[in-house]
Amino acid sequence: MKKSYLLSPGPTPVPERVLLAMAQPVIHHRTPQFSGIFAQCAEKLKGLFNTKNDVLILSSSGTGAMEASITNCFSKGEKVLVVNAGKFGERWGKIAEAYDLKVQWMNIVWGNAADPAAVKAALDADPDIKGVFIQATESSTTVKHPIKEIAAITRSRDVLLTVDGITGVGVFDIPMDEWGVDILICGSQKAMMLPPGLSFIALADRAWARADKAKNNKFYFDLKKERKNLKDKTTAYTPAVSLIYGLQEVLAMMEEETYPKLFERHAALGLAVRAGTGALGLKPVTTHYTEGMTGVFLPEGLDGKKFVKVLRDSFGVTFAGGQDDWAGKIIRIAHLGYFTEFDMVIALSSIEMALDKFKVPVKFGAGVGAAQEILRDRFEVK
Ligand SMILES: *Cc1c(COP(=O)(O)O)cnc(C)c1O
Repeated sequence: MKKSYLLSPGPTPVPERVLLAMAQPVIHHRTPQFSGIFAQCAEKLKGLFNTKNDVLILSSSGTGAMEASITNCFSKGEKVLVVNAGKFGERWGKIAEAYDLKVQWMNIVWGNAADPAAVKAALDADPDIKGVFIQATESSTTVKHPIKEIAAITRSRDVLLTVDGITGVGVFDIPMDEWGVDILICGSQKAMMLPPGLSFIALADRAWARADKAKNNKFYFDLKKERKNLKDKTTAYTPAVSLIYGLQEVLAMMEEETYPKLFERHAALGLAVRAGTGALGLKPVTTHYTEGMTGVFLPEGLDGKKFVKVLRDSFGVTFAGGQDDWAGKIIRIAHLGYFTEFDMVIALSSIEMALDKFKVPVKFGAGVGAAQEILRDRFEVK
């Protein structure tokens, strides 16, 4: 028998009670029964996004909401600044170019975070720039960008700040109204503990004002249409009913844990994993780590692609490797969503055992022990 463990930064494990909620019979979506659940979810999402504005629920992966932010709030030919610090930053630029926006790329060496001063300088130099696109966490490099500091720059100008919070929302606090984030996006299969298939997007007042004027092609992702439908507790097209059942359960779980405790848990798991990987001599890929995941370099000369494959196929533990320049060189350990202290013990012990199989000298328990030193304080014995 083999037991499988999912420790990749998306998809992430789905809690048993959420799986059970999604197993309920599918009901018709144009009914008061469904509308009640849908409206309740939309209302609770405002708490998670920390906003007074509507949070729209779309049936798509996270990229759908990214595309929607561009097609609804930006016009063809408009100039935007794209922070490209990895695969997902690059995706912002590719979507913007697909819809004929003029992209100014701010290319950042992988492992580094955006520098607010550089963003300010770019905006000062070119008043034609109408938007900044960035990630809360660049998942390909496990880097956290300084969103609050960048919002402080954009909010006093006619520049919309669009944040891909797909691995940020529900991991750490992103109070969008307080900071002045104009558009915030999330997806279901990361910190939201759901299967893939839902995305979430909230627009601040000035983003909605842009949506009134923006000219671009769109049909399925028409946010004004979705906002109007949400007022009637429904959606423009058929929603992913079963995933909404799951979402209702996830939001209940988050409320039970409370958001401050949830953010604390992610931060603590991150510290523990980094202590553990450090003790194993695995070098950090960044000094700007997010609370949601940890990327580390594998020892020089080790075939990282094979390493991740062996962990998955021989040990039953699925991690993510690296992409592009970092393919075969790093391993990414997830701690966002349905993860607790002992999942990190599994993560670290499986890495120790795999390193041993790859003939890397390793003292069994060194990584696990370093993590335990941090995690012990999270348990109270009454
Ligand atoms: C996973 C991820 C996405 C892409 O989402 P899909 O659901 O695959 O479309 C975008 N941005 C970030 C930061 C992600 O981690």
